[in-house]
Amino acid sequence: MTSNRTARRTHNFTESVIRGMTRLATQHGAINLAQGFPNFATPDLIKHAAAEAIHADINQYAITWGSKRLRNVLAARYQEWYGMNVDPEVDLTVTCGATEAMATVLLAIVNPGDEVVVLEPFYENYGPDAILCEATPVFVPLRPGEPLDLDRLGAACSAKTRAIIINTPNNPAGRVLSRAELEGIAELSQRYDAYVVTDEIYEHILYEGEHIPVATLPGMRERTITISGASKTFSVTGWRIGWIISPPDVGGAIRKVHDFLTVGAPAPLQEGIAVALEQLPNSYYEGLSTDYRHRRDLLCGALVQAGFAVVPPEGAYYVLADFTGLSDLGDVAYSEWLTTEVGVAPVPGSSFYNDRALGRGLIRFAFCKTEDLLEEAAHRLIGMGSST
Ligand code: GLN
Repeated sequence: MTSNRTARRTHNFTESVIRGMTRLATQHGAINLAQGFPNFATPDLIKHAAAEAIHADINQYAITWGSKRLRNVLAARYQEWYGMNVDPEVDLTVTCGATEAMATVLLAIVNPGDEVVVLEPFYENYGPDAILCEATPVFVPLRPGEPLDLDRLGAACSAKTRAIIINTPNNPAGRVLSRAELEGIAELSQRYDAYVVTDEIYEHILYEGEHIPVATLPGMRERTITISGASKTFSVTGWRIGWIISPPDVGGAIRKVHDFLTVGAPAPLQEGIAVALEQLPNSYYEGLSTDYRHRRDLLCGALVQAGFAVVPPEGAYYVLADFTGLSDLGDVAYSEWLTTEVGVAPVPGSSFYNDRALGRGLIRFAFCKTEDLLEEAAHRLIGMGSST
């Protein structure tokens, strides 16, 4: 419902479908494969570090752009992992999750009337974030299992393009952008003098290819704004710790917006993440992909057995499943039926497309769950009856 008592900028997007499906799953006691949050614990080391920080009275505001300890270790890790030069005093801003990071970045760089290119299917925040900046999102397809059509991306860019948003590994399609695709995006951003805003929250959850931060491509550090966070890497989605790495001349605007939106991210939890980044060995990050690969294979195998068509994701922890061989229902009705009658909640595919018809035969499952829960979901899906 829209009302003239509310600002027009709120009229052109809806509330999150993902979180709505979580509420439906809870109401019906269904297994929640809708919202992407793990049902398993973060390592003890991280829990203890945050609890210790609370007991050590690190309970007041951290520095607005992030605790020095966290910024320092982040700069060290980006250097070690990707050879990226990050000045923790200028280039880094710690935020309340990657969600705040994306909104803050766009508010800091996008003017009303600008255009923001979004690859589709997309994570549901990007369009509303652009609309909150009174900019126009422009959509370009990036389908599971298909290469990015760079000609089509080029045709969507113009002098009005302020930013190209990418998300690799991608939610919901599981695509990992290749070097050639990233080079194509980089070339277009240079040609149209646009920023690349890159959401790399799934950077450590990878099954195929390699994770290449676009900021590491030649000439791209100064026009790329990199977003990532602790939620997925350390299974702490409720802590709301994310970060932004920006070129030096944009950091000031980003930090101002962040300051007036949130003041800062939770101080003791920043310490917990700093300890994780300082102490966890590289094998932790490798183990993440290994464990998620098992879960991916378990769920994708079950989906195929149940009659869905899937392209196994190359990264991240979601799979888009085509259910048109199983039901004539639309994606919303089918998601509700699966939740209430089968006891497994997905997200309707249309929430990831601007032209909702493109998602009508698709639903998204998250597999960031323990194997026993995935096996139970698999059992229910394989054994389900007909929806009609
Ligand atoms: N990124 C997760 C998803 O796509 C969680 C979204 C959210 O609720 N913030 O499900």
